[in-house]
Amino acid sequence: MGRVTVVGAGVIGLSCALRLLEAGHRVDVLARELPRETTSAVAAAIWYPYRAWPQERVLAWSRSSYAAFAALAAEDPDCGVVLREGTEVGLTRAEKPWWADAVPDLHETLDVPAGHDGGWAFTAPVVEMPVYLEWLASRVLDAGGSITRLTLHGLPSAGGDGPTAVVDCAGLGAKFLAADPTLHPVQGQVVLVEQVGLERWWLESGSEGGPTYVVPRSRDVVVGGTDVEGEWSRTPSPDVAAAILRRALRLVPALAGAEVLGHKVGLRPARPEVRVERVGDVVHCYGHGGAGVTLSWGCADEVVGLLG
Ligand SMILES: Cc1cc2nc3c(=O)[nH]c(=O)nc-3n(C[C@H](O)[C@H](O)[C@H](O)COP(=O)(O)OP(=O)(O)OC[C@H]3O[C@@H](n4cnc5c(N)ncnc54)[C@H](O)[C@@H]3O)c2cc1C
Repeated sequence: MGRVTVVGAGVIGLSCALRLLEAGHRVDVLARELPRETTSAVAAAIWYPYRAWPQERVLAWSRSSYAAFAALAAEDPDCGVVLREGTEVGLTRAEKPWWADAVPDLHETLDVPAGHDGGWAFTAPVVEMPVYLEWLASRVLDAGGSITRLTLHGLPSAGGDGPTAVVDCAGLGAKFLAADPTLHPVQGQVVLVEQVGLERWWLESGSEGGPTYVVPRSRDVVVGGTDVEGEWSRTPSPDVAAAILRRALRLVPALAGAEVLGHKVGLRPARPEVRVERVGDVVHCYGHGGAGVTLSWGCADEVVGLLG
């Protein structure tokens, strides 16, 4: 078993680190941003294969991640993962979603807000990212790994006195570390509001201004969202926040009057295809777009396989 350096401490880096430790490798994680400061910490985060390709690999990764999250939800009440039923509206009802096979209980429903004629309901893992990332980081440390803040200007070299292999989980940072011009940001803004007793998540695809979603967590509700191609700013816009809340209120009227607790912006690492590929002693694992949480365990398992 080798000595592996994992670059990145978002959901992808930590999931890969944990699986590598479980497989018997020694693992050191290096990251410019620690888990709570990453894009991953901004995610809503509902299991949903969104803005990630190619479809066939994404479906396989999503399916195995669903199973891993369901197991975590059942095994560990402190990990921040719960299974929640919710509804997606705005899809063409005639056609089942392409990822339908990955969820156990997808069914059509007429129990939808005014203005919609039906939707698809299913149980999804909902991952409370600030809690989950801390949990993942603790698991990495407990398994003997390390997590160090370090800004890299290139990927570390493997061999000699260095690690035996490097796993590149730098998210959008791989644009520079792996000199990958195909990687670009898709900016997403969310509003955090107080929990007003919501149990179900709601998602409206195809709404003007970006997808609209309402994702209840233990102490707050994540309300989104936007997806702005090529935008690098991480500063929340008050106008955008107001528009998000207006859209969300139409979807979930019970949000009326909910106190706003905060605003967040994250830059999704988008790429024409998610890159999970071994090149010499480096395994690249980045470009998960709007589905890094959804794909995390499936990709981590593949990374372990690529390192043998
Ligand atoms: C608003 C919003 C909502 C979302 N909702 C969902 C959702 O509901 N479900 C879902 O599955 N996904 C969702 N996503 C997408 C998800 O957040 C991303 O796909 C995921 O966070 C990518 O994880 P990552 O670990 O690859 O990248 P990141 O979380 O960005 O982590 C990258 C790591 O690499 C490090 N790094 C980068 N460059 C360097 C460098 N030069 N030196 C050292 N370290 C470096 C960073 O510091 C960081 O630690 C959402 C995203 C946004 C913005």
